[in-house]
Amino acid sequence: MTTYQRVALACRTAALAAAGGTVWTVTRHEWVPAGFLAWGVFFLVFLGGRCQKVHVVDRARHERARRAACTDAAVLAAPLPCCSFWRHSGGAVHGPDCTRPPEARYVRDGLPLDDAETAAFDAITAHTPKEH
Ligand SMILES: [Zn+2]
Repeated sequence: MTTYQRVALACRTAALAAAGGTVWTVTRHEWVPAGFLAWGVFFLVFLGGRCQKVHVVDRARHERARRAACTDAAVLAAPLPCCSFWRHSGGAVHGPDCTRPPEARYVRDGLPLDDAETAAFDAITAHTPKEH
């Protein structure tokens, strides 16, 4: 049970007690205390509802973060298959139907680039912002 749930439960319990007090004061025709107690009942019910809402939103946010982390772990664990050659060669060879960009294949697989490809790769990476 989280803190917000405890506060919500306490507010609802206090609201129930205040409602009982309101009924008791009304039966004795003490209208001023009954009014204050009735106002307290509404306030405590509202406060308990807000605390429960914060708890539900917080739990949903944590669930979304947990699912995103599980998805990231599953997706990033293995690269997606890019072509049938790569799939059937255990990731050693790319075929002519490969959808992966050539630069990414060369960088990942460590294959040498010719002069034109090296110049093109350097031109692309020269405009990439550096990480700090
Ligand atoms: Zn491929």
